Amino acid sequence: MRTLQPHGLVQSPKNNTKTMMITTPAYAAASATSPLAPSAIERREPGAHDVLIDILYCGVCHSDIHQARNEWGGAIYPMVPGHEIIGAVVQIGSAVSRWQVGDTVGVGCFVDSCRECEACAAGEEQYCHAGASFTYNSREQDRITPTYGGYSTLITVDESYVLKIPDGIPLERAAPLLCAGITTYSPLRHFGVQRNDSIAIVGLGGLGHMAVKLGKALGAHVTVLSHSQSKREDAFTLGADHFIITRDAEVFTQHAGRFSLILDTVSAQHDYNAYLNLLRRDGTMVLVGLPDPTPLAAGSLIMRRRRLAGSLIGGIRETQEMLDFCAEHGVAADVEVISIQNINDAYERTLKSDVRYRFVIDMASLRSADY
Ligand code: NAP
Ligand code: ZN
Ligand code: ZN
Repeated sequence: MRTLQPHGLVQSPKNNTKTMMITTPAYAAASATSPLAPSAIERREPGAHDVLIDILYCGVCHSDIHQARNEWGGAIYPMVPGHEIIGAVVQIGSAVSRWQVGDTVGVGCFVDSCRECEACAAGEEQYCHAGASFTYNSREQDRITPTYGGYSTLITVDESYVLKIPDGIPLERAAPLLCAGITTYSPLRHFGVQRNDSIAIVGLGGLGHMAVKLGKALGAHVTVLSHSQSKREDAFTLGADHFIITRDAEVFTQHAGRFSLILDTVSAQHDYNAYLNLLRRDGTMVLVGLPDPTPLAAGSLIMRRRRLAGSLIGGIRETQEMLDFCAEHGVAADVEVISIQNINDAYERTLKSDVRYRFVIDMASLRSADY
């Protein structure tokens, strides 16, 4: 049986089971070395607690590149990346209570978790002990069904893992908040950044530019540490108080002991020890960038009782808090909107630090494509 759905999609039973699947166009990587290419994937028909979301925009995170190219190992192919998803609810399951058809919603980096462990109970589902179901390159809680991300036109998600996009944030500028926004907001809050604290953001990319905006909104004194001279003016426009170029080794002695918190968003290998030296006594450097391993000298930490920490995205409750905070403070991402057909070029430009400051795919380009 094949029936045409109201949203123009073809539906067919999968493997002769009763679960109805919805076929949706997507862009997928077939292997670690293949470019992203047009493809089709299947979404489940919404169950009682699910919502079906028509995807309008999807941000392009550097993690999409790491994973599409299997830089973290264990990649699942075909892979449809994308975890900065904005869309409209087009269908709801019979037991859905939080959402209505027509709501503007977001989906971030995970779509499910065990809901029982201590991390889930604390609202930090990203640290689920049993393993969260990440939005793509992961498995549903059945540990079998692969998940596919936002470089597609539809996604089915349990209502508890969906975010409300507050009024007032342009939708394409809201998409990057679902990863870049929460990944920087969460450590700034968790490590207690206060008004007038002197903090540094390392790397002015998708995460870094959000960290500058959020750090300023929290009242901190923000310095950008960048290896790109060309971003100096932008840093000040984004709200930074200082801009330091890290290509010159001398800056690491000039500014030693200056910051109470350093948020390191850099995606490529660099010397953590040099940056740790910029922390004051009891200062904390938080890694959110995920490059290849880098050696660490104990002395970098011991000399001023410094701490080195890491942080992974944020839970559903905190992500909603961040979205509301952004609406209240007029914070949104600076974006370059692209068609899905330009995604491979966007990856290359991101790798060259040539993005101001997040690529966001307008999914109308996929919907209108001829397959
Ligand atoms: P991005 O937009 O590419 O930004 C990374 C920035 O790092 C660049 O703009 C550049 O800033 C700096 N950089 C790049 N290459 C460098 C090099 N060779 N030496 C020094 N600096 C360099 O990436 P993103 O999307 O913000 O993601 C950043 C990292 O965070 C990625 O590794 C990503 O996987 C990770 N991530 C982690 C989480 C988490 O939950 N922990 C969530 C999302 C992403 P400058 O030009 O200013 O130097
Ligand atoms: Zn991301
Ligand atoms: Zn859990």
